[in-house]
Amino acid sequence: METQPITIQKSPKPGVKERNLADLPFGQLPTDHMFVAAYQAEAWENAGIVPFKELSLSPFALCLHYGQTVFEGMKAYRMADGYISIFRPEKYHQRLNKSLQRICMPQVSWELFMEGLTQLVIVDQEWVPSGVGSSLYIRPFVIATEARLGVKTSDEYLFIIVACPVNSFYSHNLKVKVETTYIRAAEGGTGYAKCGGNYAASFYPTHLAKEEGFDQVLWTDGREKEYIEESGMMNIMFVWENRLVTPPLSSSILDGVTRDSILTLAKDLGLQTEERKISVHELEERLQNGSLTEAFGVGTAAVVAPIEQIAIREKRYTVPVKEDSFMLTAKRLLSDIWLGLIEDKHTWNYVISIK
Ligand SMILES: *Cc1c(COP(=O)(O)O)cnc(C)c1O
Repeated sequence: METQPITIQKSPKPGVKERNLADLPFGQLPTDHMFVAAYQAEAWENAGIVPFKELSLSPFALCLHYGQTVFEGMKAYRMADGYISIFRPEKYHQRLNKSLQRICMPQVSWELFMEGLTQLVIVDQEWVPSGVGSSLYIRPFVIATEARLGVKTSDEYLFIIVACPVNSFYSHNLKVKVETTYIRAAEGGTGYAKCGGNYAASFYPTHLAKEEGFDQVLWTDGREKEYIEESGMMNIMFVWENRLVTPPLSSSILDGVTRDSILTLAKDLGLQTEERKISVHELEERLQNGSLTEAFGVGTAAVVAPIEQIAIREKRYTVPVKEDSFMLTAKRLLSDIWLGLIEDKHTWNYVISIK
C-alpha cells in the first residue's frame, strides 16, 4: 500500500507549558495532539496529526455494539542525552496486526504506524517527561466505525494514536488470588489479541477479588483451571531454584513485549529461563517449601509489579520482595536501556533524531 505524506494541523493553544509533568495520575492527561487515519473503500486515507479532540461517531457505529476494537500500549522515553526513543516499535506493530487479524479488522502497514507514531511524538515532544520511571505512554488503537446495527464486520475504521505523560504505575506490591471460578481467555479464543472485549470480561472477577482485599487475580487456563496463565492484564513470572519461569505463549496468553524483554535480559545475565506450564499444585508446593523466591507481573504500563502475597483457595502465602531480587534488577536494567545509560545491545530503542 502506498502511504501519502500525512498532514499536520497544530493545536492553536498547546497546554504543555502549564503542566507539571512530574506529578500525574496514570492516563488522565492527553497531550496536545493525536494521529488519525480513516479506513474506507479498502484503504487507509486522510492520515494526519490534529489537535486532541473528541470523536464524532454514529450511535450505530459497530464498535459500540459488537466489540470490534483493538489497541496497543507502548512508551517513548526522554534519554539522558535529551533525545527521545520509542521502545521496540516493531514488536508492538506486529502484535497490533495479529490482534487486528483475529478481530477481522484491516492491517496497518509499518509505514503508516511509524509515520503516525513519530510525527505525534515530534509535535508533542515537550510532553515527553524525563527521569527514571517517567515516559510518554502511547496508545494506538483501531475501532469499527461503520454505522450499522446489523451484525457484520465493519467496512470502515479509524486508526488513532493518542498519548499521555506518565510516572510509575504501581506504588505498592501486589496481593493476588489464584482465580479458579472465572477465566480470562480460553484456548482458541481471543486471549492472545489485545482487544477491548478481553478487558471487559476481566472486570467482574477482578472486582470480586478487590472486594476480598486483593489487587488482581492470577488467571488459570480455561480448560482445567489448573495452569497459571497471567496476572491481571500482565504476564506472570516466577523465580525458583535460580531459574526464571513463565508460562509458554499460547492462544490464551498475550505475547507481552515486556515478557520478551525480561526473558532476554535474564539470558544476558546468565539466569536460566523456562517457558513451561506451571500448575497451581506446583505453585502451592513451592510457596509451602520456600523454593519460590520471586513472583511478579510484567507489562508496559507497570514494567515490573512485585507480588507479595498469593492466595490459593483459603490459604494466603507471603512472597519476599527483596531489593537485590532479579525482578528489580531487570527493572533497573530496562530503565537504564530506556535512558541510554547502558548499551542497547539488542537495538530495542528507536531513537528519534530530535532533542
Ligand atoms: C498488554 C498486556 C500484557 C503486557 O504486554 P506488554 O507488551 O508487555 O505491555 C499482558 N497481558 C495482557 C492480557 C495484556 O493485555
